[in-house]
Amino acid sequence: MGAWTCPNPSCAYDGQLDEGSNCPLCGAEAEERDFEALGELLKKKWGTRNSKEGKADTKRVMEHMKFCPKCGSPEVFWASGLPQLWSTWECRNCGYRGALVIENIEVAMKLREDFAKEKVNK
Ligand SMILES: [Zn+2]
Ligand SMILES: [Zn+2]
Repeated sequence: MGAWTCPNPSCAYDGQLDEGSNCPLCGAEAEERDFEALGELLKKKWGTRNSKEGKADTKRVMEHMKFCPKCGSPEVFWASGLPQLWSTWECRNCGYRGALVIENIEVAMKLREDFAKEKVNK
C-alpha cells in the first residue's frame, strides 16, 4: 500500500494523485510510492520548493547567522577596506573587531544576556 504522486523530485508538487493521472505542475505520470519512499521523495520536493521560491527556512537561516562573540549581537559584518584574506569582523553594536564570530544562536543569546548585565553593573 502506498500513495500515487508525482515522482519528479525537482517538481514541487507534493499532493496525492489518482492512478494513471499526471502531475498538474510538471506533467509527469503519477507513480506509486510506499510510505518510506514517499517520505524521501517529499523531502527532496520540499528542498526544491524552498530553493525555488526562496522561502526563508528559519532554522537554516539561523544556522548561517553570525553573532558578535563579545555582545552576542547579530550586527556583525566584514570589516571594510581590509584584504579578504583575513576573516575580520566588526560589530556594529559594541565595536568588537576580530576574526572570531559565533555561529550558534544559543551561545549568542547567552552572551547577549551577560553583556546586558555587565552594562547595568557598570
Ligand atoms: Zn510534478
Ligand atoms: Zn558586539
